[in-house]
Amino acid sequence: MKIEEIIKEKPHLQSPLELYEKTRNFVNQCKEDKERVKLDSDIDLIDIVLKNFSSIFNIPFESVSFLKDEVIKSGKDPIKEPGSLWFLPIHSEELSKEEIERMLFIFSKPFFVFLRKEAEQQSFMDTGKCPVCGTDSSLAMITENNERIMICPLCEHGGSFFRIGCPYCFNKDSTKIEILLDDEEIRAEVCLECNTYIKSFRENHYIKYRDPFLIDLVSLPLDIVVQKRGYIRRSPNFIGLRIIE
Ligand SMILES: [Zn+2]
Ligand SMILES: [Zn+2]
Repeated sequence: MKIEEIIKEKPHLQSPLELYEKTRNFVNQCKEDKERVKLDSDIDLIDIVLKNFSSIFNIPFESVSFLKDEVIKSGKDPIKEPGSLWFLPIHSEELSKEEIERMLFIFSKPFFVFLRKEAEQQSFMDTGKCPVCGTDSSLAMITENNERIMICPLCEHGGSFFRIGCPYCFNKDSTKIEILLDDEEIRAEVCLECNTYIKSFRENHYIKYRDPFLIDLVSLPLDIVVQKRGYIRRSPNFIGLRIIE
């Protein structure tokens, strides 16, 4: 389904869906460029990401190029530690602290995706976290064989996890897990033991939307319902939102 069609169906989600589309293009374009261009050094990757960040989000290049200096000054390697990008000291008079955080989150996304190796099959079983980048996941797909695949919000790695159970506290008692459904039957699985939730969807949702992160966004109203009841989402969605009001 095309984004424009989804927006027509769900006009209340227009702005997050438009941001989703840009972020998706941004990540995909960076991935493509990385494969196409022969890089002399890791630092060149920052240029590729900045160039796409500027063009896709319509920000003048001069306004974002300082990020490269900040990365170099920080002494951290964003290729090995993409999470270090969230702590770049950015001061701005136009942007709020929250907006800066979301900007850095989106900027860091391609670097997380670069960490991932296609066809890698590590599971989430040991810690409940992403085995590639160590991030908590709040999103899972239930396959036709009734297997649960957790999906990392940052590097996009998918790996199996117990069919029933909370990936944060490992509660596996199904009487302490409550299921809420939205009108498309996308689910919130609420853990009554640690007060967190994840969202899950089935393969038919995947066939319709083609991207787990898009399914996460079309079901944003479900997050609002669950969070109003006091449950916590541990990891942000594709556009950097974790607390949804
Ligand atoms: Zn990951
Ligand atoms: Zn739990």
